[in-house]
Amino acid sequence: MTGQVLTVSCKLGVEEVLAQEIDATLQGFADCCNWINSIVDPKVTGRLAIHKETYHFCKQTFELPANLVCQAISRVSSNRKTAKLKNARLKKFKPTSAGYDARIFSFNEHGWTVKLTLKNGRYSFPLLIGNYQKHLLSGETPTSATLIKRQSGEYYIQIQVKPKPLEVTESEECLGVDLGRKSIAYTSEGENWDADAINKLRDHYANLRKTLQQKASKGTRSSRRRCRELLKRLSGKERRFQTWLNHTISYRIVKSAANNKKIVAIEDLTGIRDDLNQQPRNAYERRRTNSWAFYQLRVFLTYKCLKFGIKLITVPPAYTSVSCASCLRIGNRNGKSFSCKCGWKCDADHNASIVISRLGGVVNRPEGSGLFCLLDRDDSGLLKASSMPQAWAG
Ligand SMILES: [Zn+2]
Repeated sequence: MTGQVLTVSCKLGVEEVLAQEIDATLQGFADCCNWINSIVDPKVTGRLAIHKETYHFCKQTFELPANLVCQAISRVSSNRKTAKLKNARLKKFKPTSAGYDARIFSFNEHGWTVKLTLKNGRYSFPLLIGNYQKHLLSGETPTSATLIKRQSGEYYIQIQVKPKPLEVTESEECLGVDLGRKSIAYTSEGENWDADAINKLRDHYANLRKTLQQKASKGTRSSRRRCRELLKRLSGKERRFQTWLNHTISYRIVKSAANNKKIVAIEDLTGIRDDLNQQPRNAYERRRTNSWAFYQLRVFLTYKCLKFGIKLITVPPAYTSVSCASCLRIGNRNGKSFSCKCGWKCDADHNASIVISRLGGVVNRPEGSGLFCLLDRDDSGLLKASSMPQAWAG
């Protein structure tokens, strides 16, 4: 996990007058981006090339501080590069975000404030944040940030910090965690959070929503409005519950690893979403790569591992769910259960988490991979009864 950057999202305390100033700045930034994008040959993506062609005109025309113009130029350049990579069309720039660097942004830890250069001056804003964000920001001198206006009209500053090199626990022991299949999470130590409870709750909300949606289309004008408001509140409630659950689960996992002096291993799923050859084939796999809740759990795990100095490693996801945790051959995964010719039987997610833990353990074991069949066999290749751990008997 080298070169990792954390983004700390902080709500800004903004007075009415300054809100107008921010809006004007965001509008200027978007106008500037759109103009640059319309004027520069679409094939050009390099920042310097775009800068040469547009900087002076933008500086005179959009009345933005010089460094915001530079940020606009980098924004166009990086968005063009991303669009090119994804083979997609570049979207129009909206007045909802602007980039900041060290010359137009500063963070003050003593008062928990940030200073931002806006269109007509430099202003200080209080950060409305909790202990979690304070912990991540304390002692930091961040040099880049993004100013955001959310749909709700609230303003946020997303501050990028490089996490300090913590003293990371090294260990040969590895806690494997399988995320987001039948269970929300299953550890190689057997701890698990079943998805049933949350699914039940989700169904409950889905039914409620359905009823409300029906009511929202009929009835009097005021009752329709009340239903719409309720629906909005409901989606927030469900989201908050899921966030709370993800915090709880990730905390328990990291705490357990810390107590047992283990490193943590999860599957490396980056890129799966974009790779057409590896499109997730079934509903579970799709949920694992597309759902925000699943993504959030991974992010929380990453943050908490950093916070507690636990080494987090990722292992290749291929075959983790179908390999036998005992003999590493391909076994039978059938819904929630896993079985193998060697006699190993186990909950399918538990099996996967042990495979992940064995793969993860390789990292800190220089003398050998430890990846071999755990069973003793007699001359005919059959399993010796004496070698079967007691836990498997059932
Ligand atoms: Zn086996």
